[in-house]
Amino acid sequence: MPTTAKSASSPRCDVKIAVVGAGIGGLSAAAFLERHDHEVHVFESSTELGEVGAGIQISPNGSRLLHQLGLEEQLATIGTTPSRVVIRRWSDDSQLSETPLGPRARQRWSAPYYNVYRPDVIEILKSACERSTIHLDHRLVRVDVESTRPVLEFDNGESCSADLVIGADGIHSRVRHGLFGEQSTRFSGWVAYRALVPRERVADLAVEVTNRLGPDAHIVSYFVGRNQRFLNLVCISHDPDWSIESWHEPGDTEVLRARFADWSSPVRDLLERVEPNVFRWALHDRRPLDAWSRGPVTLLGDAAHPMVPFMAQGGCQAIEDAAVLTRALDEGRDAEHALDLYESIRRPRTADIQGRSFANATSFHLADGPEQKRRDDAYAAISARGDDVLANFDWLYGHDASTQTWPDATV
Ligand SMILES: Cc1cc2nc3c(=O)[nH]c(=O)nc-3n(C[C@H](O)[C@H](O)[C@H](O)COP(=O)(O)OP(=O)(O)OC[C@H]3O[C@@H](n4cnc5c(N)ncnc54)[C@H](O)[C@@H]3O)c2cc1C
Repeated sequence: MPTTAKSASSPRCDVKIAVVGAGIGGLSAAAFLERHDHEVHVFESSTELGEVGAGIQISPNGSRLLHQLGLEEQLATIGTTPSRVVIRRWSDDSQLSETPLGPRARQRWSAPYYNVYRPDVIEILKSACERSTIHLDHRLVRVDVESTRPVLEFDNGESCSADLVIGADGIHSRVRHGLFGEQSTRFSGWVAYRALVPRERVADLAVEVTNRLGPDAHIVSYFVGRNQRFLNLVCISHDPDWSIESWHEPGDTEVLRARFADWSSPVRDLLERVEPNVFRWALHDRRPLDAWSRGPVTLLGDAAHPMVPFMAQGGCQAIEDAAVLTRALDEGRDAEHALDLYESIRRPRTADIQGRSFANATSFHLADGPEQKRRDDAYAAISARGDDVLANFDWLYGHDASTQTWPDATV
């Protein structure tokens, strides 16, 4: 438990590890750290734990780590295992490629590919944080990284010092700001329209991930929630004039339908089934940082490496960060060496995925023409390889962050 200091000018509490932010990254970090006997305090700005009602894909590189947290059974209860990923063409819905998932994914990568409802993920991660203390209603306003021990100041007037600070406070991280100063995010020019369609309205659709590609836009859909309660629909459209990041910003269903009015009839039919509660979110990212840490203060998840969601990896990479950071703290000679180890394997991988995610926008959104034909031929060739197609994803989904070795130079 935190100790209370006597002097009004000194920090009110004093903890070993302070995690700022109780999203997927922060809770994963707490869950891994407490299993390695670390005392963890999580400080979250919201007054209750939760996530917006939307979907997220947890690929095997993420699910295998959640299994290590003892969440295998709970994950299987909340997760939907799509049978495959299908890529379709915007104008006639013809199939461009197919990647089998379901049992084949599990067999190849020893962990399932899941589609899940975000609030359910937070719920099970919270259940894995039995020994950590979660402080709600603690919005970090400042972190003093200059003092011998970092000091966190919250908007409720409280403050706390810590041996180690992990900033898991998302793309607009205050911890990142404390470490490296003001750096603006990069607006991608893409906007995500998001809707959850109740299963009864789409019961005829297959349980698979569908990615429909067209000029300047694409649409991803998959089922989420216990008993596949909803179809999660994310429609990405180029809209450089709209840059507001908020899961709660209302979007107009009619505008969404009008945007895709010249797409195939299955798309138009699907959008007709969307109820009015559509939200829109402008997609931002940041360029990879040269360092994530200073002294005993570091970053994790979107605070460290925000990415556009065109590889569905931001959350999974946050889980990988959490697993590696915990190992690094076990193996490092001291906190700074541990953070060197952590960065040595996390920065290259996440920077690569940030770059590939951004590049996918170009490839997904090609206008019809020779380049688009070359892309579609490449998809067809990959699909024709049958099971081998999964080999293309070994580097991503087969990656086990819990066993990856440190580069020689850092050990
Ligand atoms: C449309 C879309 C689709 C996506 N799909 C996928 C997908 O399929 N698969 C996938 O893996 N990823 C996906 N992502 C990315 C994923 O959502 C993020 O990468 C992931 O949520 C990052 O988790 P995090 O814990 O690092 O940050 P966040 O989820 O942003 O959590 C940060 C937490 O910190 C808290 N906080 C913020 N500021 C403060 C403060 N000052 N003080 C205290 N607390 C604070 C917040 O309230 C929040 O709880 C998608 C993203 C988008 C936008």
